[in-house]
Amino acid sequence: MSETKAITNAFIVTGEASGRIIEKGHIVFEGSRIKSVAAGNPKGDIDVEFDASGKVAIPGLITAHTHLYGILLRGASLNIDLPTDFAQVLQRVWWPVDEALTLEDAYASALAASADMLRNGSTFFADTYSGPNSIESSLDMIAKATEEIGIRSMLAFEATERHTKEEGQRGLSENVRFAKKIKGNELTSLMMSIHASFTVSDDLIQQAAKMARNIDIPLTIHTSEGLVDLYHNLERYGERTIERLNRLEALGPKTVLAHCVHINNHEIELISKSKTSVAHNPMSNMLNAVGISPVIDMLNEGITIGLGNDGWIFDPFENMRCAYTIHRLASGNPSIIGPDQIFRMATLDGARCYGLENKIGSLEAGKLADIVILDCSRVPTPITCSSIIGHIISTFNGRDVSDVFVNGELVVKNREIVRVPDNKIREVSQESAARLWKRL
Ligand SMILES: [Zn+2]
Repeated sequence: MSETKAITNAFIVTGEASGRIIEKGHIVFEGSRIKSVAAGNPKGDIDVEFDASGKVAIPGLITAHTHLYGILLRGASLNIDLPTDFAQVLQRVWWPVDEALTLEDAYASALAASADMLRNGSTFFADTYSGPNSIESSLDMIAKATEEIGIRSMLAFEATERHTKEEGQRGLSENVRFAKKIKGNELTSLMMSIHASFTVSDDLIQQAAKMARNIDIPLTIHTSEGLVDLYHNLERYGERTIERLNRLEALGPKTVLAHCVHINNHEIELISKSKTSVAHNPMSNMLNAVGISPVIDMLNEGITIGLGNDGWIFDPFENMRCAYTIHRLASGNPSIIGPDQIFRMATLDGARCYGLENKIGSLEAGKLADIVILDCSRVPTPITCSSIIGHIISTFNGRDVSDVFVNGELVVKNREIVRVPDNKIREVSQESAARLWKRL
């Protein structure tokens, strides 16, 4: 029998569809599963009690799109001609980095980025790795790191035909190989991934979509992030990005489109009709100056939207804050989107993007015990049922996360990663980054 653990005396934001909030209650979990979430004290025997008096418990936050290896570029000053558009950002910054990545970098970046996300309250992320010179077994290296840290993840190698057709096939194969290997793994799962429609042929898109359907895993693809994607598809195929993906049968309830910045109403309709989801990355979109995704229009069409960081700023609170403000600025309407909607994107809707809404994304009996505890010592005004979601969007940040449970295990305690010493994480990523910077 697994131990029965209980978080007691907590202010609980369940994140469930009803929006239930409990002012003082408990969360009981046995092994990896939540048994009850209710007001008052738990009934029955509890083996381990975690007293959360004066603290807030929220569901582990969901990062719907990331690139762990992005962390190795923090602070790097590259000796390049400065890019003036998104295509140049890829050509001058990211693609040379991709090519320089080794399996050791895949491991080191996954260790540091997982630790960063977990400590900041993200308990699940969907990551795609890109490295044309480190394809085979890259996913083993990443999973080794994420499992050492104890974070839940969905991984993929980002297949592309940027250099050769063969490169695309090797990318797909790495995903299929890894999918078989990790079958039944509770922490790590796999999705199929293709980089973006402008770096792959029709064949590869169709093949990836078919493989994903056969193994019954999600498919993810960068979509109309910059204008280069749209122009490529208009020039070569006479159709817009989403129209091409629709023709190739790559849309559907298990497809997650990252970005969707340059899309029109017809494309929104196609996304909505096919029940495709979208991972919105507002901070990265600002960083790369690609534009503002029509999130409000997509929400109005009932499209499920999760929040991603795209490999930059691994603090989900900052990403929520940006998503909350960017659409107000873009629309000139300060009421265009509310904090509840943003919180849902970072929790239940993020989980829904990947078909995980029955497992994670809210604190409910039967779901996996992925729970984030927030320290409230910095909060300047009362925490009440009507103020708490506002605080989550406007007051807290990743540094207020005191403790984190994943699968019912305490993996962050008083802001420290429990399973791997912080100095080891830092050492591994510093050394790897220093070598990478030299190669660049
Ligand atoms: Zn991305």
